[in-house]
Amino acid sequence: RAKVLGRSHYEVFAVGLHAELTRRMDLEFDLRQALDRNELKVYYQPIWDLRLQQLAGFEALVRWWHPQDGFMSPSEFVTVAEESGLIIPLDQWVLEEACGQLQLWRSKLGPDLPLILNVNLSTKQFSGGNLVTSVAQILERTGLPGHYLKLEITERVAMDHEKGCIDIMLALKELDIQLSLDDFGTGYSSLSYLCSFPVDTLKIDYSFVSRLTQSDADRIIVKTIINLSHDLGINVTAEGIETQEQLRILQQWNCDYGQGYFFSKPLDAAGAEQWIVKG
Ligand code: C2E
Ligand code: MG
Ligand code: MG
Ligand code: MG
Repeated sequence: RAKVLGRSHYEVFAVGLHAELTRRMDLEFDLRQALDRNELKVYYQPIWDLRLQQLAGFEALVRWWHPQDGFMSPSEFVTVAEESGLIIPLDQWVLEEACGQLQLWRSKLGPDLPLILNVNLSTKQFSGGNLVTSVAQILERTGLPGHYLKLEITERVAMDHEKGCIDIMLALKELDIQLSLDDFGTGYSSLSYLCSFPVDTLKIDYSFVSRLTQSDADRIIVKTIINLSHDLGINVTAEGIETQEQLRILQQWNCDYGQGYFFSKPLDAAGAEQWIVKG
C-alpha cells in the first residue's frame, strides 16, 4: 500500500476499488454456493408483548457461517445478495424454512400457538412481479395459515418502486398476512408513508431506542411516533431494547411490543422452542 501512495490518487482509488470488487465477487460466489449447499440457517429472536407480558412471536434472521471467514453478519452479505439478485432466492428460502419451522412447532406444541412469525423481505422482492405468487405458494407448501405471518419491509420500497408497491402490499394482505414497516425513522418522508402504506405494525429503529436515555429529542420523537401510530390504528414494536431503563420508558408510553438483547438474542430453533414452552 505504501508504495502506491507515491502514485496518483486515482491509482490508489483504483487499487482499493479492485480489491473491493474482488471481495464482493468472492462473497457472491460463496453465497450462491451456501444457498445451494444449505449452509444458511434461520435464527429466531423473541418479540415480547409488553402489555400481556408474554411471548408475541419471533423475527426470523438469516445466519451464515462462511466456510473460511466464519460467522458473517447479514448486514455484510445482504447488500451483496441484493446487488446480485441472490436476495430473491435467499429471502424465499428463509421464508419457507421459517414457515416450516413454525408448522413443526404447531404440530408438536399445539396448533393454536399464539405466535406471529416475522420475516424480512428485501425491497428487491417488489420488482420481479411474482412476490405474491411465491409467498402464496410457500404458505401452501408448508401449510401455515397466512395470519401467522408478518412480513417486514422498509420504507425504501416506496422509493424503489413508487407505483406498484401498495398494490402488492394489499395483495399480501389478501392472503391474511400482516405487514410491518421495519427500521422506521432511518429513511425519508417517513410520515407520509406511514399514512399511505397498509401496515399493521411499525418497528422503531434501534438507533432511536439506543438514544432514549440520553437524548430529549429522541425521547420526544419516539413518544410522538408511538402516539401517531396508535392514532392511525398501527401497533408499535421497539427493536434493540438492551436495558431495563429503555424498556421502562417504552412501556410508560404504551409501546406494544419489544425486541432486543434485554429479552433475548436471536436463537437457533431449539433455543426458540424453549421460549415457546416457557410461554
Ligand atoms: P433488522 O430486520 O432490523 O433486524 C434486527 C437486527 O437487530 C438483527 O440484526 C438483530 O440481531 C439485531 N438486534 C436485535 N436486538 C438487538 C439489540 O438489542 N441490540 C443490537 N445492537 N442489535 C440487536 P442481524 O440479524 O445482524 O440483521 C441485520 C439486518 O439484516 C436486519 O435488520 C435485516 O435488515 C437484514 N436481514 C437479516 N435477515 C434477513 C433476511 O432473511 N432477509 C433480508 N432481506 N434481510 C435480512
Ligand atoms: Mg427486520
Ligand atoms: Mg428492524
Ligand atoms: Mg433495524
